[in-house]
Amino acid sequence: PTAPIETDALIVGAGPVGLFQVFELGLLEIKAHIIDSLAYPGGQCIELYPDKPIYDIPALPVVTGKELTDNLLKQIEPFGATFHLGQEVQVVEKRAEDGRFFVQTSKGTQFLAKTIFIAGGVGSFQPRTLKVEGVEPHEGSQVHYRVRSPEQFAGQNLLIIGGGDSALDWALNFCAGHEDGNPHKAESVILLHRRDGFKAAPASVAKMQALCEAQEMQFLVGQVTGIVEQDGRLTGAKVTGADGVTRIVPCDQVLAFFGLSPKLGPIADWGLALERKQIVVDTEKFETSVPGIFAVGDVNTYPGKKKLILSGFHEAALAAFGAAPYVFPEKRVHLQYTTTSPKLHKVLGVE
Ligand code: FAD
Repeated sequence: PTAPIETDALIVGAGPVGLFQVFELGLLEIKAHIIDSLAYPGGQCIELYPDKPIYDIPALPVVTGKELTDNLLKQIEPFGATFHLGQEVQVVEKRAEDGRFFVQTSKGTQFLAKTIFIAGGVGSFQPRTLKVEGVEPHEGSQVHYRVRSPEQFAGQNLLIIGGGDSALDWALNFCAGHEDGNPHKAESVILLHRRDGFKAAPASVAKMQALCEAQEMQFLVGQVTGIVEQDGRLTGAKVTGADGVTRIVPCDQVLAFFGLSPKLGPIADWGLALERKQIVVDTEKFETSVPGIFAVGDVNTYPGKKKLILSGFHEAALAAFGAAPYVFPEKRVHLQYTTTSPKLHKVLGVE
């Protein structure tokens, strides 16, 4: 096993506030590693509203979720934070011997951090699951909420559930012929959605309809209300249609794409004082009940808290100053202006 990564600061969550935390720490010359369970940075701005305009970021009259994220990434570039994406932070423990924190992610990456900044927002985004009796034992083998290796579905009879881009894109993908260079064509594809209306891109919907016309795949309106098993294997789904009739749809694999929903998840188990699933902090340093662990953005609570991006930015600045004594016990840290400080110009690389 490799040795844990040693760092002055570890940021949990790469939403807008976690990203700006990199900047505020960087100005104080504190290097950070940043982790997110999603495969990309941006948090809610990217996951929930990439194309929607935000109007209340100071000095940016209008900016979309994606533009804000891109700008933040550009702004923190000089600080060279290391990103660890697609992994959830599961363990956070204070070590008795040196007061540092031991941190471990779902991928087994380990850290020893002097300070931790929890910018976990509304939690880590997890796929919504199929809520039908008896499904759980098949999850990961015959019931899937994400596609990790498309090859595993080649030549099989697929039931794909959902009406968004993921459901449509995968349905089209598994349906496309070998002549299109598709190495993982399914034996058959049935798309199931609870209504005959889609959130997916209209072009994908049109393609899907054309494939149904050509009898290359099928589309059904209805909901899965049960599963059919034989000798411990899933052999089909019970699908209740709009007419109230339940039919059995035989299949080898079920792929359900119901979107992602955030879960506070392991953050709740790190021994921090919580209030209604939010981390309690002070408003001087945004420090939690555990010294050395700070919480910023949507994940924290204090009197008057508003879950706004601009509030998170302010919190990140004060948390960085709050953390400086843990990283540089001997140094007095002063406020400097980015406009005029030669030292800050140096760290920003704008000399
Ligand atoms: P988030 O954006 O929630 O990011 C947290 C990140 O932490 C996520 O990526 C998550 O995957 C990750 N994470 C959580 N737990 C873990 C873990 N254990 N391990 C690894 N990663 C983890 N705010 C405004 O100010 N103005 C607006 O106009 C506005 N419009 C909005 C519109 C919509 C539709 C929504 C849903 C929200 C809007 N907001 C708006 C709110 C704003 O998006 C949030 O305040 C902001 O995203 C909070 O940022 P954050 O970085 O604290 O958390």
